[in-house]
Amino acid sequence: MRYISTRNNESSLSAAEAIACGLSREGGLFVPDTLPVLTGAELTDLGSLTYQERAVRIMGRFLEDFSGAELERFAAMAYGSFDVREVAPVRTLRSGEHFLELWHGPTCAFKDMALQILPHLLTASMRKTGMGESVCILVATSGDTGKAALEGFRDVENTKIMVFYPENGVSDIQKLQMTSQEGGNVDVCAIRGNFDDAQSGVKRIFSDGTLREELKPRGWTLSSANSINWGRLLPQIVYYFSAYCDLVNRNAIKMGEKVNFCVPTGNFGDILAGYYAKRMGLPVGTLLCASNANNVLTDFLQTGVYDRNRPFHTTISPSMDILVSSNLERLLYMLSDGNDRETASYMEALRTEGRYRVSDVVLERIRAEFAAGFCDDGETKAVIRDAFRKDGYLIDPHTAVACGVLRKYREETGDGTPSVVVSTASPFKFCGSVLEALGNPSAGGFSHGADGTELIAALERESGVTAPAPLKALLGRTARFTDCVDKDRLLDRVRGFLR
Ligand SMILES: *Cc1c(COP(=O)(O)O)cnc(C)c1O
Repeated sequence: MRYISTRNNESSLSAAEAIACGLSREGGLFVPDTLPVLTGAELTDLGSLTYQERAVRIMGRFLEDFSGAELERFAAMAYGSFDVREVAPVRTLRSGEHFLELWHGPTCAFKDMALQILPHLLTASMRKTGMGESVCILVATSGDTGKAALEGFRDVENTKIMVFYPENGVSDIQKLQMTSQEGGNVDVCAIRGNFDDAQSGVKRIFSDGTLREELKPRGWTLSSANSINWGRLLPQIVYYFSAYCDLVNRNAIKMGEKVNFCVPTGNFGDILAGYYAKRMGLPVGTLLCASNANNVLTDFLQTGVYDRNRPFHTTISPSMDILVSSNLERLLYMLSDGNDRETASYMEALRTEGRYRVSDVVLERIRAEFAAGFCDDGETKAVIRDAFRKDGYLIDPHTAVACGVLRKYREETGDGTPSVVVSTASPFKFCGSVLEALGNPSAGGFSHGADGTELIAALERESGVTAPAPLKALLGRTARFTDCVDKDRLLDRVRGFLR
């Protein structure tokens, strides 16, 4: 299997090369040129395996230049630190409504599923390709990626990691998680701007030829931990298979029966992994794309017009406060039958006009695979309250957005297909909003000025649920990184970090 750029079909790379490069020279994303399809027997076989073994089986199909033993070692290191043996357990609330909990890793958000294994994939890829001695990871984060990447790469040999986050775009707990990060190879910096500013700033640095030339003789290569990197997306395909197997194992569905997944979406990485799983033969019905008030994807998937020219909303689900979803490019490439020119022209229109309209063929295909909806903050809080009061289940605002969208979709369409809500964060990462949703009057008073950690205990008291240990450990920690820079000064900061 080879990897090609979504904007240039001419040249192809090995898996290790694609992972080591991150982004292609023309700014395209790497995609596999064919997709492995699992037979029914292979799918059945996955059922009796551990999560780590499932990961090796599925990822191995895409990583021909890695040995099975290597992948076993990586999976063991990546998922051994999760706080439940199943790694990604499925919880059933009501008949036909399941929650795939992806937040049992060290930073309590689903980003750990990929970012605990990416450092191993990336450093191995660098070695295999001889692409440079040292790699510097640049990350733009809306909150969760930054911390998960810092934790994944901290003190990993021959790596450095630099994280930029929007000054006012992350929760207090998320901020403290990042600014108190330990490790000798890390740097964290706020920017005056929103997530899209951070992301486009980082993309500009990647395409800066002068900087590349400057760093090369010193042995530094730049790479990305955002989901534009194939090595970040690939591990996410695994949990769709894993959830399906678990549902079969407990007789919630029959092997071969279709399942819908509802995914709280920002950069379109998570849901795209679900689409890859479907194309690989997993019996998936509809993929439901759930958004918050930044509902650019809802409009796009319904009308075929992507238009980022709209107000940016800061919501209680900050990891989805995104107007430019990078991974959509991979979907457009697949749905246009690998048409690099067509894909590049959409992306060019997005860059120059902030808007594009896909062809009728692409729109028809989108409609056949996806449904979309959104919840505003009021609806999201009502869902959190309802899940806790009626089912005794505490969920975070991102998961609540998806849960709300699923329930609206089922009501509107009558589609009763067994459904999995992808649960992406621990509610304790967003204590203020969750307490407010539960109607706790102390929530508002705390949420400004304080670092938010005192709310962890308040939410534990209110809910009777114990917070994850890594979040409790934040109590009393102080910030190590306090700088904030203008959004056009990212390059200077990176230069300084690598000096
Ligand atoms: C990153 C994130 C999302 C969005 O995932 P994408 O892959 O960017 O679509 C949703 N919820 C949480 C908690 C996240 O951290």
